[in-house]
Amino acid sequence: MSALEWYAHKSLGDGIFWIQERFYESGNRANIWLDHGAKEDAACRPLLAVATHVHFDHSGGLYQFDRVAVHHAEAEALARGDNFETVTWLSDSEVVRAPSPGWRARQFRVQAVQPTLILQDGDVINLGDRQLTVMHMPGHSRGSICLHDKDRKILFSGDVVYDGSLIDWLPYSRISDYVGTCERLIELVDRGLVEKVLPGHFNTFGAERLFRLASNYISKAGICHKVSTFAMRSLASLALRVTNSRTSP
Ligand SMILES: [Zn+2]
Ligand SMILES: [Zn+2]
Repeated sequence: MSALEWYAHKSLGDGIFWIQERFYESGNRANIWLDHGAKEDAACRPLLAVATHVHFDHSGGLYQFDRVAVHHAEAEALARGDNFETVTWLSDSEVVRAPSPGWRARQFRVQAVQPTLILQDGDVINLGDRQLTVMHMPGHSRGSICLHDKDRKILFSGDVVYDGSLIDWLPYSRISDYVGTCERLIELVDRGLVEKVLPGHFNTFGAERLFRLASNYISKAGICHKVSTFAMRSLASLALRVTNSRTSP
């Protein structure tokens, strides 16, 4: 089976491609976006893989790339292969075709990757005919970023926002940061700077839905939510520590 058969892909036009794993049937199955700029093409440079954050469903394949970019706040975790911070959590039942004979989900680890580019809020990734501005949007994780193409009014949003229930109870999640992040998302909509969101999970959506998702999060982030999130985070942290200590060599 060729490498291509492991991935589904579709062109969205304008040099943007959607890519997804075929044999990982899980709610954690992530979207991979390829944005084909003119400069990267002409220079024939190796592809730059930008991690929207280091959670395993977005970082597990980074070791295969020569050029890897990640936000400053999660660069160390990636360089160390920290499987607590990457929230490495998968089961055999989600993997419908094992990548190699004898492969076991519980032995899967995000491999340590030395980033070649450390990102900060406001940095611009120049692809020649298109520019992507880095927005540091913590809350889901401490180094989550969105990439904003101001000219095309496109937002690559990672797990900061997608059309589903947003997750703020992982080890490095933080509700107060997430509220600030959602306020920035709303501001993008108010200023007419986003027309299409290409998220880390599920389908693409437009400005109206983005506004709704961000404002819903802010309105539910009260004291009750904080208490229940605290309990969930404690449980998740415990489970991750047990899993990682049990299966590490
Ligand atoms: Zn995530
Ligand atoms: Zn994810």
